[in-house]
Amino acid sequence: MENGAAPTVPAVIVAIDGPSGTGKSSTSKAVAAQLGLSYLDTGAQYRAITWWMVSNGIDTDDPHAVAAAAGKPDIVSGTDPAAPAITVDGVDVAGPIRTQEVTSKVSAVSAVPEIRARITELQRTIAATAPLGIVVEGRDIGTTVLPDADLKIFLTASAEARAARRSGELKGADVNATREALIKRDAADSSRKASPLAKAGDAVEVDTTALTLPQVIECVVTLVEEKRAGK
Ligand code: C5P
Repeated sequence: MENGAAPTVPAVIVAIDGPSGTGKSSTSKAVAAQLGLSYLDTGAQYRAITWWMVSNGIDTDDPHAVAAAAGKPDIVSGTDPAAPAITVDGVDVAGPIRTQEVTSKVSAVSAVPEIRARITELQRTIAATAPLGIVVEGRDIGTTVLPDADLKIFLTASAEARAARRSGELKGADVNATREALIKRDAADSSRKASPLAKAGDAVEVDTTALTLPQVIECVVTLVEEKRAGK
């Protein structure tokens, strides 16, 4: 490098997968912020394309209709862990993608191969252009999107712990109903044909059931630092 500040460490790609409520988003954002890396929430991208389908009257239970529209919306993801942004055709959808309606329809939309091909391509481009490296969170990052990631983490937690965390986030939501909805979504995500939720063979599994969020963050930061140090 001729001038300017040369990066002192090579770019690092971290894949964090796991089911809902394991602390994936909070952990991924904090690890990226702490290590000065970019951050990508791939669930937000699937939610955004689902939001577009719903807003445009596409029947999300009809895979042919969803596939035919897969190329239409323009989805742009920000990669700042302090302010993750997502737009569809220039509209900020960070709020609308978290509604119950989108949550209940996202598994059906994300199971459509044309949707996965489109979103996977976006994800690979974003990861390849992150200057210092990136933390990418999702369901199939270590297995399919970035199989050559430097570090792969698979977060798990008991269904009870995951439901308790999610209903805490949703303020006042019924824990039992949340638990049932989570189990249903995980079952759909794990059993689909195209790139299901799965632990990569070379992923490090971290069970977060009995850990606090700061403990999970510390554990993952240590794993990234060890990887960078070549241990
Ligand atoms: O992570 P989040 O709960 O926001 O993800 C929403 C949905 O997006 C998941 O339930 C799954 O259907 C889909 N998804 C996926 N592959 C990813 C990330 C999310 O299919 N890499």
